[in-house]
Amino acid sequence: MSRTLAEVAAEASTCTRCRLAESRTQVVFGVGNPDADLLFIGEAPGFHEDKQGEPFVGAAGQLLTRMLGGIGLRREDVYITNVLRCRPPGNRDPLPDEIESCTPWLIETISIVQPVVVVTLGNFATKFVLNTSRGITSVRGVVYGWHGRKVIPTFHPAAILHGGGEKSRQFVDLQDDFALIRTTLDAASRPEPVAPPAATPVLAAAAQDEQLELF
Ligand code: URA
Repeated sequence: MSRTLAEVAAEASTCTRCRLAESRTQVVFGVGNPDADLLFIGEAPGFHEDKQGEPFVGAAGQLLTRMLGGIGLRREDVYITNVLRCRPPGNRDPLPDEIESCTPWLIETISIVQPVVVVTLGNFATKFVLNTSRGITSVRGVVYGWHGRKVIPTFHPAAILHGGGEKSRQFVDLQDDFALIRTTLDAASRPEPVAPPAATPVLAAAAQDEQLELF
């Protein structure tokens, strides 16, 4: 039997698999609906996330929450996590061995939540999930198949805030990507179209009924 997300988070809360255990305030495991169809993966907790124990609560998180609202979703409707579950000191980039140590937590999270759509926010999460060296600008705006799920890469909200903000070209692209998330989710939840049944002659149908009654 697979574990619940709460059980996995409890075990992760004392994780010492990498050096970040020494500098973190706490492990930031993830937040949201453990049954969500939509799962977001960011890079790593920042200052506010490390203090509060919840991903995406700072300025970038507020933009993420607003983007979700724009497609009719609340934070509680989705699951939000990161490639790393501990804050790198000074918000430096994650190191390869830290990503490797943290990967089992992310894999187990995805296998419990079973999202239909995974959204990777920014270069780190996108390169990690799609196993690509291409930058976010060239891979975004497209839906990728991934282990029976769909992956939609988009800009990290912090990159929008540090770039031109809501007047930038990137913000327009981010809005387009969120519209794509909405249509992809809607298409996935719609039942497969069923071919209309071939017209069955009434007499033949009656004969079939009789045959079925023999069993
Ligand atoms: N940036 C991230 O990538 N993750 C967070 O949780 C917050 C900011």
